[in-house]
Amino acid sequence: MAKKTVADIDVKGKRVLMRVDFNVPLEAGRIGDDRRIAQAIPTIKNVIDRGGKLILMSHLGRPKGGLEAKFSLKPAADRLGELLGKKVAFANDCIGVEVEQAVTAMKDGEVLLLENLRFHKEEEKNDPNFAKQLARLGDIYVNDAFGTAHREHASTFGAAQALQGKPRAIGFLIQKELKFLGEAVSNPKRPFVAILGGAKVSDKISVIEQLLSKADTLLIGGAMAYTFFLAQGKEVGKSLVERDKVELAKSLLAKAGGKIKLPVDTVISDKMSDDAITQIVEGNIPAHLEGFDIGPKTIELYKAEIAGAKTIIWNGPMGVFEKKPFQAGTKAIALAVAEATSKSGATTIIGGGDSAAAIEQFGLAEKVSHVSTGGGASLEFLENGHFSTLDILD
Ligand code: AMP
Repeated sequence: MAKKTVADIDVKGKRVLMRVDFNVPLEAGRIGDDRRIAQAIPTIKNVIDRGGKLILMSHLGRPKGGLEAKFSLKPAADRLGELLGKKVAFANDCIGVEVEQAVTAMKDGEVLLLENLRFHKEEEKNDPNFAKQLARLGDIYVNDAFGTAHREHASTFGAAQALQGKPRAIGFLIQKELKFLGEAVSNPKRPFVAILGGAKVSDKISVIEQLLSKADTLLIGGAMAYTFFLAQGKEVGKSLVERDKVELAKSLLAKAGGKIKLPVDTVISDKMSDDAITQIVEGNIPAHLEGFDIGPKTIELYKAEIAGAKTIIWNGPMGVFEKKPFQAGTKAIALAVAEATSKSGATTIIGGGDSAAAIEQFGLAEKVSHVSTGGGASLEFLENGHFSTLDILD
């Protein structure tokens, strides 16, 4: 059933407590990439343009549980103010008497950003008392932070629970995530091709298992492929592998019945650097060398699968795309996914994290159907098909 969005709620004169993801990269107090703040603007404007009093809460980085100036959200308040063209007030804490007073003094259409939720250890523990204190700040609860929606924290779960009986909705960012990821999980247009890469099999085992029953083809790249090579009895040289996952890789291959495609050639080198000299091998990787990308034959095979697909999900780079000599595989796959969107009308979803960074780096983010705002969250959504934090909303 479709979830209520913020647009379905009358917010005029009401205190709207909204969880956003302002976990932006900060260097010496300056915001680098402000995309996460910019992406939240449509939901924010919807509330303030209709006269809601908007109280925003977020985490930033991984503080140890107390105040740490370098993780303050104050720069995010300033940047949001610039983007909105209006003043955004900032509270030096996220709970307590002073915060409650600041909220009480708010006028319709004003915005207040609370200080980093994770300055309180209770946030990640979903402490009920802390959650209640957050909930006291709102008449309405909105969640628009997909990147943390897979975690039951006080701001994502406990506060929403504590506001039971009051309107509780999702924002437009989460609405879009649910539309694309939800459809892919429950009713994908076929053929459905999943592309999985990145460093470790262990991070993605559950999603591989889930996708085996849902997708028509799984294309594997990245270092993850070499654990599967070991499972096939191939030699992988010094490549990154997880030896304790070889048996599991074997059983996945047996279960897959040919659905899992592995690289047929590999870009190898003796070092992972920008000036690395590379070679291509088919089959075994020599003992003193390491695999860092999929090779040209694999690119062609994978491109053909992608060109024939109607739904594509991509999570994890095909190689060490951060280094130029090992970029070709990831770039070719990014281009192929973009092309499938425009030429075959495929629904194409980039599952956050490093693949989102890669598609941005290649200037192709606008050319796919959806770039997820949550790496871990999108993987978990593909595994489970729902989040408890969103289930409890209206
Ligand atoms: P993950 O977080 O699991 O999606 O992994 C992303 C990281 O995997 C990126 O930083 C890549 O550089 C890295 N990666 C991809 N392929 C390889 C490889 N063949 N060897 C080592 N690292 C790799």
